[in-house]
Amino acid sequence: MALVIHYLCSSSVPLARAVRSRALTMNSSSSLPMVKTADSHVLLGMSELDLQQLALNFGQQSYRGKQLHQLLYKRKVKQIQDFTHLPVPFRNDLEEAGWTVGRSPIHKSVTAADGTIKLLIKLEDGRLVETVGIPVEDKKGSLRLTACVSSQVGCPLRCSFCATGKGGFSRNLKRHEIVEQVLAIEELFKRRVTNVVFMGMGEPMLNLKEVLGAHQCLNKDVQIGQRMMTISTVGVPNTIKKLASHKLQSTLALSLHAPNQKLREQIVPSAKSYPLNAIMKDCRDYFLETSRRVSFEYTLLAGVNDAVEHAKELAELLNEWGRGHHVNLIPFNPVEGTEYRRPYRKAVLAFTAILESRKITTSVRQTRGLDANAACGQLRNEFQKSPLLPSLDDMQPQLKIPVA
Ligand code: SF4
Repeated sequence: MALVIHYLCSSSVPLARAVRSRALTMNSSSSLPMVKTADSHVLLGMSELDLQQLALNFGQQSYRGKQLHQLLYKRKVKQIQDFTHLPVPFRNDLEEAGWTVGRSPIHKSVTAADGTIKLLIKLEDGRLVETVGIPVEDKKGSLRLTACVSSQVGCPLRCSFCATGKGGFSRNLKRHEIVEQVLAIEELFKRRVTNVVFMGMGEPMLNLKEVLGAHQCLNKDVQIGQRMMTISTVGVPNTIKKLASHKLQSTLALSLHAPNQKLREQIVPSAKSYPLNAIMKDCRDYFLETSRRVSFEYTLLAGVNDAVEHAKELAELLNEWGRGHHVNLIPFNPVEGTEYRRPYRKAVLAFTAILESRKITTSVRQTRGLDANAACGQLRNEFQKSPLLPSLDDMQPQLKIPVA
């Protein structure tokens, strides 16, 4: 779920643990574990327990797995040969068996005047994925660093205001490709990420298994609190219930954008398959299941959904569905190729006042990085016009933008 919103980037049941050791089989010729599945040779994303098992599979003692865990998540070492705490033969064995750390190079980075940095990460298959780091000083003067991460390369949902949707869809990201975005932000800012929002490119609910895996890894291995994470969705039938069943202590952000079904379908075409009443019921159930309030994201589009009548209708809708919600108003951030316009300040203030007068907790999100290809998907679209990459050589950056 991407958009300007993703800039504001303002979350257990124990998840089913993917036991990597199951993906290993013994290579009879070398008696070393060999890779069975396409992504099973990536260390990043594995838990400490899995890494211990991996070490045992390589004939090492299990404490080597603990060391691997430290090297990956604390020291953030990017190459197996730089794992200097490990014996050289173990490093060589890992490499020979096809294991990699799973960190990708940064293809481009753009820094906005407010300190927001947008990165394009070049994945193993040459595809580019966006991630954003947003530093914010809170009221007490402490610095928060939010990573706004992508869950897909592109997005198939094509919301009418979204640059990512316009750029097409390639594939889902794997767990480690989500985790590495956070580590890349930490590396660039030279400090810990405090908050993670799954609001970058893609619809997280269409890649829920990997999103849950990344969420678990970020929580248990990278040590980011569940309450500091937010999972966003525009709404995919049956997935909010599934997410709720995991009882994560993370916020659900529902991209609503309209107070009624008709207008919503106009703005979010995929809404046709998920009636507003059903989505509101699922959001209420999420709150009842997790006790975490739901954040309703509402992008204000001038002359489309920003009238006083829309605010009143939205208040009615939310009050009908009970408590445990919050509204985030997001003044639209212009995207190339769209006719939508940014709302007037007066309209934003009037909209806010109506919601607040009806006892709805409301915030207006500050657009970050407006001068740096701010809307999600914009930067990626500049560099990769086609979601399917015919050849890596076809992808030469041409833009003159500041490189961080
Ligand atoms: S098109 Fe996809 S990425 Fe863009 S806002 Fe819609 S769900 Fe999010």
